[in-house]
Amino acid sequence: MKRDLAALAAREHDLLVVGGGFSGAAVLREAACAGLDAALVEARDFASGASWHSLRTVHGGLRHLQRADVAGLRESMRERRALLRTAPWAVRPLGFLVPAESVGRLAFLAAGVKAAEWLCPDRNAGLAAADVMPAARVLGPAAVAHEVPGLRGTAGGVVWWDAQAVHAERLVLSMLVDAGEQGAGCANHAAVEALLVRDGVVRGARVRDARGGDVFEIAARAVVLAANEGAAPLLAASGLAAAPAPWLEAVNLVLDRDLGPAHAVGARAGGRFLFTAPWAGGTLIGTEYGPAGVDAGAFLELAREAFPWAGLDARDVAYVHRGRVPGVSGARLWTHHRLESPCRGLHVLTAAKFTTARAAAAQTVDAVLAATGRTGGARDTAARPLPDLSPPPDLTAAARQAVEGLMAQTLADVVLRRLSAVPRRPDAARIAAAEAALLAAGASSQQLAAERAGLQQALGEPGG
Ligand SMILES: Cc1cc2nc3c(=O)[nH]c(=O)nc-3n(C[C@H](O)[C@H](O)[C@H](O)COP(=O)(O)OP(=O)(O)OC[C@H]3O[C@@H](n4cnc5c(N)ncnc54)[C@H](O)[C@@H]3O)c2cc1C
Repeated sequence: MKRDLAALAAREHDLLVVGGGFSGAAVLREAACAGLDAALVEARDFASGASWHSLRTVHGGLRHLQRADVAGLRESMRERRALLRTAPWAVRPLGFLVPAESVGRLAFLAAGVKAAEWLCPDRNAGLAAADVMPAARVLGPAAVAHEVPGLRGTAGGVVWWDAQAVHAERLVLSMLVDAGEQGAGCANHAAVEALLVRDGVVRGARVRDARGGDVFEIAARAVVLAANEGAAPLLAASGLAAAPAPWLEAVNLVLDRDLGPAHAVGARAGGRFLFTAPWAGGTLIGTEYGPAGVDAGAFLELAREAFPWAGLDARDVAYVHRGRVPGVSGARLWTHHRLESPCRGLHVLTAAKFTTARAAAAQTVDAVLAATGRTGGARDTAARPLPDLSPPPDLTAAARQAVEGLMAQTLADVVLRRLSAVPRRPDAARIAAAEAALLAAGASSQQLAAERAGLQQALGEPGG
C-alpha cells in the first residue's frame, strides 16, 4: 500500500469512499472486485474508529432471533461463515456460555440456540475443519462450574458458537490490500473537509492531507460516505441535509488479565446483558451504551455485579474502548445497516455492526452501479481469500512491515493497529520497535516524542 494523494487526485474515479473502517474498506474491496476505479480516504488511521473499539464478536445473529427476524439471522450467519472462510488467520470460532439462574430460563435459552441452528443448517458449509462450529450444548450446573471456576448456584447453562475477529484492524487492512491488488488506491490521515457539489450532484471531495497540510480535490462519479458519526458534520459542511441518525457511545473495558474461562461468558446486571470474552491473552468486557461520557468506573461496578466469579479490580483495566454506534438506547440499537442517497452522486452507509460489513458493501456497490448505469463484473467477495496479514511474531520485522508496506504514519498507527492485538498497555519493546521503524522512514525524534503522549490519549483512561 503506497500513500499518494497527488496520484489519487490526478484522475476522476468511478467511486470515492470516505472512511477507512470496516464499512469503507469493504466497499472499496467490493468496488474493486466489480471492476470500478475506486479510491478511499480516511481522516485518521484505517480502523481507528468504531472498528477498533468493537468487542470483536462476529455475531451469528441470535439477537435477530429475539426479534423474530429470520432474514437478519441468516444474513449474520452467512457473513460469519464468509469471514471464517476468507480470513481464517484473523477470525476464530469462539464459544459463548450463558449460565441460567432457573430451569425455566435454561429451557428458554436452549430453545433459542437450537432454533437458530435449525434455521441455519448451512452454517458450516465450506468451512475448514478447524473453523467448523460445534452444535450448541446444554450444560448442567456442575459443567458450568467447571467451565467458569467460582460460579456456583446456576441451574446450568447453554454454550453456542460464534466467532471473534482477533485481528480486527489487520482484517480491515487486508481488505484494503486486496482492493489495492485490483487497482484501488487509498490514503490515511487525509480528511474530507467538504464534498464537491455541482448543480446538486456530488462529484468528489476536497481532502486535506493531515501529514503535509496540502489540499487536494479528488473527483469521482460517485461518493460513498462510510464515515460513521463523521457523516452528519461532513454533510452539513457540504451544504447537504444530514440524515438524522441517533448516536450512542458504546464502551468496552479491556483487561490485561485472562479471567480463565475458554468461552465468552454472558450475564445480566442492571438491565444490561454483558459478556466477558477472552482475547489475545487478556479479556474484553462489553458492551455498555449511553450518551457521550459513559462512566467507565460505573461500568466496572456493573461488570463486577454481572461477573462476581471474576474478582474484577480497577487495576485489571488496561484501557477503555469508546466508539459511536447508531441507536436510541442499549435495548434499542440499530440491528441493520442503512443505505441512503440524499442526492445524486452520493450514498451514505451507516453500519450497525462490523459482522455484516461485506453484505452492506455489496448492497452499496449495487446501488452505485445502478445509479451510474454500469453493470460491473461478477463478485465473489464471500469466497475470495483475503491476503493473510497475520502479525509477524518478530516485533522489529512487524514494525518495519507496518511502516513500509501497511501505510502506518504515526506511533499509534504502528503500536495499536499494525502489531499483534493489544490487550495490555503497550510495552516499551513495542514502542521502541515502532519508533525505530518510523525513524528509519524519516520521522523526527520531536515528532515521536509528541506522539508518545498521543498514544496514551488514544487508549483512553486506564483503570488504575
Ligand atoms: C464498543 C463497541 C463494541 C462493538 N462491538 C461489536 C461487535 O462485537 N460486533 C460487531 O459486529 N460490531 C460491533 N460494534 C459495531 C462496529 O464496531 C461498527 O458497526 C463498525 O465498526 C462500523 O464500521 P464503520 O467503518 O462504519 O465505522 P468506523 O470504524 O467508525 O469508521 C469510520 C471512519 O470514517 C472516518 N471519517 C470520519 N469522518 C471523516 C472525514 N471527514 N474524512 C475522512 N474520513 C472520515 C473515521 O476516522 C473512521 O475511521 C461495536 C462498536 C463499539 C463502539
